[in-house]
Amino acid sequence: MPAVATAPMIRRETGDDRVCVLTFDRPDSGANIFDAATLDELNEHLEAIEKDGSLRGLIITSAKKSIFVAGADLKTLLQAAKRGEMREFIHRGQKVFKRLAQLRIPTVAAIHGASAGGGYEVALACDYRVASDDPATRIGLPETSLGLLPAWGGCTRLPRLIGPENAAEVILKGKLYSAQEALKLGVVDEIAPRDQLLDRAREKLRGGKPKMAGRAPASPASQNLRPPKSGGNPAFERAYEIINRTLSISAEESLRMELDGIVELGQTESTQNLIRNFFLAEKYKKGTSRTPSEKIVHAAVIGAGVMGSGIAQWLSSRGVTVILRDVAREQIDRGLANIEKVYADAVKRGLMAEEKAKQGRARICGSTAPMELRDVQFVIEATSEKMEVKEKVFRELAMEAGPKTVVATNTSALPVSELADVTVSPEHVIGLHFFNPVSRMRLVEVVIAKQTSDETRDRSLAFVRQIGKVPVIVRDSPGFLVNRVLFPYLLDAAGLFESGMDAEQIDRALVQWGMPMGPLRLIDEIGVDITIDIGNTLEKAYGQRDHVATVLLWLRDQRMLGRKAGAGFYKYEGKKQTPNEGLMQRISSHSDRSGVKPSAVEESRDATTEEKHRDPSTSPAPAGSGQDHDVNIVHRLILLMVNEAARCVEEKVVDSPADADYGMILGTGFAPFRGGPLRFAEHFGIKETVEELERLARTEEKFAPCEILKKHARDGTKFYEE
Ligand code: NAD
Repeated sequence: MPAVATAPMIRRETGDDRVCVLTFDRPDSGANIFDAATLDELNEHLEAIEKDGSLRGLIITSAKKSIFVAGADLKTLLQAAKRGEMREFIHRGQKVFKRLAQLRIPTVAAIHGASAGGGYEVALACDYRVASDDPATRIGLPETSLGLLPAWGGCTRLPRLIGPENAAEVILKGKLYSAQEALKLGVVDEIAPRDQLLDRAREKLRGGKPKMAGRAPASPASQNLRPPKSGGNPAFERAYEIINRTLSISAEESLRMELDGIVELGQTESTQNLIRNFFLAEKYKKGTSRTPSEKIVHAAVIGAGVMGSGIAQWLSSRGVTVILRDVAREQIDRGLANIEKVYADAVKRGLMAEEKAKQGRARICGSTAPMELRDVQFVIEATSEKMEVKEKVFRELAMEAGPKTVVATNTSALPVSELADVTVSPEHVIGLHFFNPVSRMRLVEVVIAKQTSDETRDRSLAFVRQIGKVPVIVRDSPGFLVNRVLFPYLLDAAGLFESGMDAEQIDRALVQWGMPMGPLRLIDEIGVDITIDIGNTLEKAYGQRDHVATVLLWLRDQRMLGRKAGAGFYKYEGKKQTPNEGLMQRISSHSDRSGVKPSAVEESRDATTEEKHRDPSTSPAPAGSGQDHDVNIVHRLILLMVNEAARCVEEKVVDSPADADYGMILGTGFAPFRGGPLRFAEHFGIKETVEELERLARTEEKFAPCEILKKHARDGTKFYEE
């Protein structure tokens, strides 16, 4: 009979083979996390294991359905940071994990489910790691994406295990990997079917204690290690510094660097923003409604293009059956091929079991014929962005849909209330604006038209949450929130290019500031033609700040539509992207290259403003760039977004500044550690923001600060009350 010692969070059992198994199983919870009590408990178990001379090995595992250990408890971490107790909490974890690493018996982590942050660092402190090949198994160190760094040995042990280059990939990307991906990187040693996980772990133990703690890295030198591309988030720099140095210093010294690093990071604005984003995500995912809503099981998507097929795939993967309709068989076939690709990719990457993918595909039924949609709970229209096309579709849908069917449009910028007007039940019409690619973008703007009923709004919010997306409510107005705020920035970047500035310089400046890609690359991704269409709609509504630069029209005429055409501001070959040299020469010879004058960017500034912007804690300049040119590029582009986001609050397009900030982070990847455009403006200083906008407005009127910004600057008030 196995000897059993029971404890609240971790069970300890020893079998006849004298292998001890520690099973994490937090009571009354679906997840295991590390808080101070769990660390203490693990410590007590390790002490008992050290004293038991009869043991031959240790397995660490979890009893949860889809979680190994989800990581350190962020609430504990946040409180510790606020009370100045971060050092003590982290140090305690380091000591416990060190004790585990130094056990004289061989140790193995048998990982099934999410193993993130501290939940992977505990596995790193073991001699071996075996993972289940189940799609629920996701492994990684996401700390840097929260403005922290893996400080329970992650930055020290991982480079020793898999070399600094691979460790940098894991730590700086902050991604969670499937078991197959983790195996390829060396993050785990072996994968096994879930029901054989413990047997494989036992087999590993038979190999005994490895000679060294961890394996020797493939190449101890880290010449190939590249510093993080995206600037601004100090967590990247700190983690990079340790990964780069750890192999030339002792593990002890490296752990000390981890400790100092995380304590200092905990006090920065960027880390606080990132942790706040994490809690905001929880809030938006849950919502506030207490009334249980109907489960959506049957939907229809009209239009099988990029978005329609993406939406149909997503819904089907979440258990919803979907009628996918388009005008011609070829369009349906193309849409189904897109869907197949997304499913195949998810299976290939180990994110979905083949069986689940098969079931998902089977839920989609393609059709070109109009059909009865009475039993369908939601229809999502995703046809071409043309009012006449959409109006025709909405008229037809009004006839086909049932009395309770919600009819949603995925339009990027057209007025939802005008579409509602052509139907017989306008109260059932709403906008559900998904982002591209649907399988990766979590945001859905829920667009409330003036006719939309409260019931339709609530059912739509519940539906968006049901399918695992994050809804932000926006008022029906041109561009809603995300495109409205993004486009002045994109179009101004095109204007800067037109005025003679290098595309790479513009994009680099913004990436260094923290954006996931530069604005001109983003235009190429969106498509030059689509950018022009949306820009035109917005220019009609908002005037000069959405003026479409001539260069975009020129690109469209040349069929250089961006990535999908193989060329735009850049040239694309496979995954490779190079500047479109031909474009530079051809436009130079084209006398039309005028537009925004370089002087708009080069203009001198007064000394006090200049100094303020050099202070890295407040400056919107790219970290460490030190180049006035880049500072000026970033200034004008980011402040355009700040001004537009403020207008969205002023005009009640969104309910709160947090909606504007979080919507921009989720919808565009707006540097998350900056906390969104409005949070950034507060950190920069509202008064300074207004002064800077006024300075820019002297040469270009479109920069004139909006009323709410001026009011806050005058009254010394803020968007956020804290
Ligand atoms: P797309 O051109 O790839 O697809 C549109 C599809 O609609 C085509 O297959 C077309 O055959 C079909 N269609 C046209 N008329 C139809 C009708 N009467 N009945 C049924 N099908 C019809 O366009 P897309 O990029 O998928 O965009 C669709 C919608 O989503 C647009 O409103 C667009 O503004 C919006 N949107 C696009 C993106 C994006 O990045 N592509 C992002 C968010 C929203």
